[in-house]
Amino acid sequence: MIPLPCFSKDLKITPALGEKLAKLGLMSDQDVLLHIPLRYEDETRITPVADLRLGVFAQVQVTVVEQSVQYRGRRSLLVTTQDVAGDVLVVRFLSFYPNTLAAFREGALVRIQGEPRMGHYGVEMVHPRFQKVSDATPLSEHLTPVYPTTEGLTQAAWRKLMARAMDVVDLPEILPTQILDETWPTLNQAVRLLHAPPPDVNPSALTERDHPAWARIKFEELLAQQISLTQAKLKRASEHAPSLQAKSDVLNRFVAQLPFALTGAQQRAWALIADDMHRSQPMHRLLQGDVGSGKTVLAALACAQCVAAGWQAAVMAPTEILAEQLFEKLRGWFEPLGVRVVWLASSVKKKDKTQAYAEITAHEAHIVVGTHALIQEAVQFHQLGLAVIDEQHRFGVAQRLALRHKMQSSVLMAGRTDLADYAPHQLMMSATPIPRTLALSYFADLDVAIIDELPPNRTPVVTKLIDQQRRGDVVEKVARDVAAGRQVYWVCPLIEESEALELQTAIDTHATLSEALPELRIGLVHGRLNAADKRAVMQAFVAHELDVLVATTVIEVGVDVANASVMVIEHAERFGLAQLHQLRGRVGRGAAHSTCILLYDKPLSAIAKQRLKTMYETTDGFEVARQDLLLRGAGEFLGTRQSGLPLLRFADIEMDVELLERARDAAAWLWQHNPQAATAHLKRWLAQREHYLAG
Ligand code: ADP
Ligand code: MG
Repeated sequence: MIPLPCFSKDLKITPALGEKLAKLGLMSDQDVLLHIPLRYEDETRITPVADLRLGVFAQVQVTVVEQSVQYRGRRSLLVTTQDVAGDVLVVRFLSFYPNTLAAFREGALVRIQGEPRMGHYGVEMVHPRFQKVSDATPLSEHLTPVYPTTEGLTQAAWRKLMARAMDVVDLPEILPTQILDETWPTLNQAVRLLHAPPPDVNPSALTERDHPAWARIKFEELLAQQISLTQAKLKRASEHAPSLQAKSDVLNRFVAQLPFALTGAQQRAWALIADDMHRSQPMHRLLQGDVGSGKTVLAALACAQCVAAGWQAAVMAPTEILAEQLFEKLRGWFEPLGVRVVWLASSVKKKDKTQAYAEITAHEAHIVVGTHALIQEAVQFHQLGLAVIDEQHRFGVAQRLALRHKMQSSVLMAGRTDLADYAPHQLMMSATPIPRTLALSYFADLDVAIIDELPPNRTPVVTKLIDQQRRGDVVEKVARDVAAGRQVYWVCPLIEESEALELQTAIDTHATLSEALPELRIGLVHGRLNAADKRAVMQAFVAHELDVLVATTVIEVGVDVANASVMVIEHAERFGLAQLHQLRGRVGRGAAHSTCILLYDKPLSAIAKQRLKTMYETTDGFEVARQDLLLRGAGEFLGTRQSGLPLLRFADIEMDVELLERARDAAAWLWQHNPQAATAHLKRWLAQREHYLAG
């Protein structure tokens, strides 16, 4: 339930203002004062026009040379100005009022704040803030805070509100001094300094968030996050799940028939998972292993243990191709043991779906593999004990919650009202390694098992960077490799703006390659193919009835063809690091020497260059993920939507790793010695956002 806003009278918050504040999650006096500026603008000095940097906020002081109202389609105002040094700055307004015209009268002295950019007439500012001034008008003595805001709430309104809030609102200390650094200000001091920085504060310490006041705020924020993670973990520990002890010999028989021995890393991961499943608290474990490290067999082992305990297992993957590969693998392993594996995806025909539903409900199906179709309304499990989720980062919180509900109704269905509050064991799998800092923060509530060793007889993939202009050489290499019995993936460029264009490029690439290499068997797979056609092409490739598979990024994850040893990626500069790493992981799965060819087109942006360099230099998924985090930042790495977690506003987990570690220790200490303070702190910081963290 959302609490009602409650502000003290002195803040003079009108109902209209209150509504806007509520949109930002601000419901109390304290919330208002804790609404910290996201950045600052420097109006303490005048920047010469000659020193302006495109896109960087600055304040200039200029004299108006000429004012002209233009009528090109619509009325706009164009003002030519120059500063004392005589350098020219153009100011444009697409809409304006009489007072704008008055302020920019020819000869007027104006102070302007904004971000310069390159326009038709040279350097310009569009819709800057401005004030008419005289030579004697003093400059601001401190940095100007800029607040995150919502429609209809101006920065000027914020500053007025904050001035009142600083007068009347007190933030009593909740945290004991033991966990604070003595160089930090009190919370009251810290927020006041950040709202109204005194003139003697070093501006760059503020903008770079490198001031003790910032350290205090970031610590507060990180601590709230750590406490909430601790709570989630405790909550999970108080939940119930069936203890899945193998009662039949299915598990042993499964192990006995495996065509290979588990690697040491797989054995260690399995020991953890098996132990989790024996417990009567739900497993919440992430199995993390680089592409090709052999996660599938562990998913199968977990299913085997679940089935041997008499419970049903569900295996869910984000795309149909991935899910289907899992299905084929699991079916191949389990059917000889008399374990029934069924397939469920939205493309399954109605009749077959009905049949699958019936088998699931009757518990004739032991393992159910599929896509999101698994958590659809109509699916009624019977004693669902385990959910395996492949590529878990591609699923949202809602879907994971849906699985949990499935579990609950599945035990009721089985007449086990005694188990009604149960949650299933969850095994999540991901090839995207979680960098240490993320593991400490967002994922602190997950147990992790890592497969850090590849199955034997793999030779590392050699990566080559080749200019798109030398595409012809690559085509020749493909011909040679195919002549030597190899298979090749050829991935078409990613075209984010247009799926249609991406499809067209794939079709064209297929045509030109077929023409250049007429003796080769070349297939084409893309997202618009229906599931049956997709499957037919993939199966032909697996069966080596095709030499080359031209593909859009649909093959991104999970495809497993050991004989494929060449991966060509066109316009590699357009792909993200994680995506490139995933794609590269499709080769190097057999004993053959494998190559990944990244074709790039110049000019390369700095970031694209860095990505390609990383790909060239390392095949280690952890290093790739670390670089990815550095290049993209945590927000994008996680995908806000996917994680469902509110991102940190002030702290940056890469930059503030020391504070993060400190906050983790402090959370543990506080939880033990002063749980009331922990709860109060969480409430203060996450009042409106807490419910997000529960997922
Ligand atoms: P991923 O972790 O990317 O999902 P897979 O589970 O698809 O990897 O495994 C990649 C390949 O390695 C598969 O062909 C699988 O059968 C094989 N494999 C897995 N474990 C072993 C092992 N211990 N010894 C030999 N081959 C293995
Ligand atoms: Mg896989």
